[in-house]
Amino acid sequence: MLQELYQDLIVDHGKQPRNFGKLSELAHYHCGHNPLCGDQLTIYLHEEAGIIKDVKFEGKGCAISMASASLMTEAVKGHHQETVYLLVEHFHQMVTTGNMPDRDMGKLAAFVGVSAYPSRVKCATLAWHTLKAALKNESDPVCTEGEG
Ligand code: ZN
Repeated sequence: MLQELYQDLIVDHGKQPRNFGKLSELAHYHCGHNPLCGDQLTIYLHEEAGIIKDVKFEGKGCAISMASASLMTEAVKGHHQETVYLLVEHFHQMVTTGNMPDRDMGKLAAFVGVSAYPSRVKCATLAWHTLKAALKNESDPVCTEGEG
């Protein structure tokens, strides 16, 4: 039943991603690709004194990559980047090992089952790695235009 709840959450966010769109040019942004699946997304964020004031994403990909990005934006908005870096680590740990971190992961716990499908792990972590790169202002930030 819990599994069904988790599945519903992923399907819901995969179909109707929250915080989908662009932020102004003042935002940090970064493009992430998962060539194995064809997922591509750009994360935009406004950061002030280390706090993520706003975050949005756009792109396309499978339900898991879209749901992960959607739930990620909800989870990190309003938080300090140090807190967020730790959350990225814990999320990565959770989806690669299948073990729940020693903390409340909230809705993100829905992705724990992804660990059973190694080919989907990159789908689930794409948004998180891209977020981290955006926060760190890493180079190569621009997504090339896709076919639509
Ligand atoms: Zn994918």
